[in-house]
Amino acid sequence: MSKYWSDAVTRLTPYVPGEQPKESGITKLNTNENPYPPSPKAAAVINNFDTDRLRLYSDPDCTQLKDAIADQFSVNRNNVFVGNGSDEVLAHTFAAFFRQEHPLLMPEFTYSFYPVYCDLFDIESKKIPLRDQFELNLDDYDQPNGGIIFANPNAPTSRAIELGDIEALAKRNTESVIVVDEAYVDFGASSAIELTQRYDNVLVIQTFSKSRSLAGMRVGYAIGHEDLIDGLERVKNSFNSYPLDMLAIESCVAAIQDNDYFAETNQKIINTREWTTEKLAELGFISLPSKTNFLFTSHRFLEAAELMGYLRSKKILVRYFSKPGIDNFLRITIGTQEEMELLVSTLEQHPDLFK
Ligand code: PMP
Repeated sequence: MSKYWSDAVTRLTPYVPGEQPKESGITKLNTNENPYPPSPKAAAVINNFDTDRLRLYSDPDCTQLKDAIADQFSVNRNNVFVGNGSDEVLAHTFAAFFRQEHPLLMPEFTYSFYPVYCDLFDIESKKIPLRDQFELNLDDYDQPNGGIIFANPNAPTSRAIELGDIEALAKRNTESVIVVDEAYVDFGASSAIELTQRYDNVLVIQTFSKSRSLAGMRVGYAIGHEDLIDGLERVKNSFNSYPLDMLAIESCVAAIQDNDYFAETNQKIINTREWTTEKLAELGFISLPSKTNFLFTSHRFLEAAELMGYLRSKKILVRYFSKPGIDNFLRITIGTQEEMELLVSTLEQHPDLFK
């Protein structure tokens, strides 16, 4: 803490460094990364990269990547914004669209960075409770608002909502921007990208970090009406934040074009998710229906915090949130089949599980 800090900076909680451990031999099921390597085509781009080219700056407009994303989703280049991870795209989104006379609405339990951005950009927000079993019901968002943001599927609750509900919300809220964070959409939910072509107030944000296995490249993007994209470009340019580096641009082009590999790895993760859900149920866990690459699960009688500590002592990292209301849940990333077998067999050895 420093006397020079603004109130917003004083309120910030730095990211817990323990979530990205440096030691080896750890089974890492805590930050929803993909257990499979990126597309071999993306790897080939990196391996064959002529490093002499790094002398020059990368394309400030990232045209090649915007075109590849636009092609993939049948939209135009001017419907696409790219940034250093969807976290940066989100930051620009908060700065661009949510400063109004009414609060920004978001689910009570959702991606933890949304409130952080509200603090940082001095945006008033209102948390809307989830329904039974953490269900997101967009009828609850019919109230004066200066914008609406939610993740679909939601994190950390893993549940998804229907496109029809998002469309109805877009129709009812023509004065504000509705942001759909689709970080996990490829693991079984439906994308709202098609709505962006019919509703100028819907902005969809996706990432290369999860279903494209490129978390380390830090690339995310937004798709929406050209006026929304223009707003994001203005914010980005006023921060003078530089676009993506050459390797990020070119490897992501290859990754987004490799639909076969994408389908194959996503299906493997979905199959492993279903297997894990069943196995955990046999051990007394109740998991919410997941459309993501993680499970949000609680045990019938063992406490989540204790279980997290037990698994950590066995070098398996899972995520625990101490927030009241979700403090008896674990969020477990779906790893490879072998990693999940290790998780299950480790849990089976928990001394109190079958008492
Ligand atoms: N949105 C949600 C819901 C997330 O869980 C995450 C990653 N944890 C992000 C956005 C940010 O992802 P990235 O910056 O890696 O694209």
